[in-house]
Amino acid sequence: MNICMISYWSCPLTPTGVLTAGGMNIYVINLVNNLGKLGHNVDVYTRVHSQKDEKILTGNKNVRIIHLDSGKLGNYKQFALKVEKFIKKEDINYDIIHAHYYFSGLVAIQIKNKLKIPLITTFHSLEIAKEVYVGKKNKSRKKNERKVVEKSDGIIASTELEKVDLIKTYGAYNHKIFIVSPGVNHHLFFPRNKIFSRLKLKLPLKKEIILFVGRIDPIKGLSVLIEAIGKLTRLYPSFSKKFRVLLIGGDIENRKFWENSEVKKIRRLIKEKELECCIHFIGSKPHSKLPYYYSAADITVLPSLYESFGLVILEAMACGCAVIASKTGGMKYIIRDGESGRFFRNNDMEELSLVLWELLHDKKYLLELGKNAIGESLNYCWDKQSQKVVKVYKKFGSN
Ligand code: UDP
Repeated sequence: MNICMISYWSCPLTPTGVLTAGGMNIYVINLVNNLGKLGHNVDVYTRVHSQKDEKILTGNKNVRIIHLDSGKLGNYKQFALKVEKFIKKEDINYDIIHAHYYFSGLVAIQIKNKLKIPLITTFHSLEIAKEVYVGKKNKSRKKNERKVVEKSDGIIASTELEKVDLIKTYGAYNHKIFIVSPGVNHHLFFPRNKIFSRLKLKLPLKKEIILFVGRIDPIKGLSVLIEAIGKLTRLYPSFSKKFRVLLIGGDIENRKFWENSEVKKIRRLIKEKELECCIHFIGSKPHSKLPYYYSAADITVLPSLYESFGLVILEAMACGCAVIASKTGGMKYIIRDGESGRFFRNNDMEELSLVLWELLHDKKYLLELGKNAIGESLNYCWDKQSQKVVKVYKKFGSN
């Protein structure tokens, strides 16, 4: 098939963990590389990284990343015109458009109308989740999401929960929605030796390492983790000598990072709890380095108030790291509680502190959880998931 992928919000090659670049970027790049491997031709249309930087990158088999300059983010009609012009100039016949996030959906509606080809959308996240879990309303986003739902021929949802949200909140038709969960790249995320990883990353060999990976955003619930660690050190003062919490994510070299309200809030909390000794912001890390961090850690915690899926949990599990996650959103589907990881009640720092304490004091159980997690993660391979996406395309496309 010839596939026109729209990734208007951000280029899938943007370094992740900084500002808004996260799971969606990783999803798009893994999906397109796997579609390319399956023999499909994929063009990903995205915005230029900086002005006058229009270029086409052709790294992986059958995949092109086409950067187009269309002015400011938000000027999506202009971007759609640019894409149309490019398609006309190169005389390409696409079978299907696949849009990522509602903004790309808006671009894609315009192109779909011109080219008369079917549109599949993956939303990645929905306004309704932010509204419910962070209390932030964005009326125009919701209106636009509804429009994209209406105009899409098919929608790929990551979980059953997302499907329910799409139907209940946006009136999506049941028959239009296909559930295909994201995958993890097992060629990159597999267990490495713990001591080797710690030596490589210059991490202490004798401390318990608790890891967080993600964008520094209120939805990630970092304050719940800090509160839980604060409680442990209050109850067991000697504990603070025994552990390190590493917070991966954010551009720590940039002054703006430290001015961000969420970062300020978390730092205040760390100071208040006298935890500066043991909780560190270590900045975003390249995706390729993360397997070493997951392998070096004793536990990876994702305390999010909401996750549409939670790729970080899946990556940690694929590396054999024991995981603790809040029981929310997509994470509910990834972990089998007590077998391949542990849940705690969403936003409940008391329960998180108990689970942390329990796992850190039962090394056998910790190892067992990590081992089972590897097996569980094998249910989510991009090789297989991309084939499921192709099946959805084929319901609509001409080939
Ligand atoms: N990530 C990364 N480097 C970082 C922080 C995050 O490569 O410093 C990646 C992480 O490995 C994961 C993605 O960003 O693949 C975050 O995805 P997730 O679904 O956990 O969260 P989202 O960003 O979608 O909220």
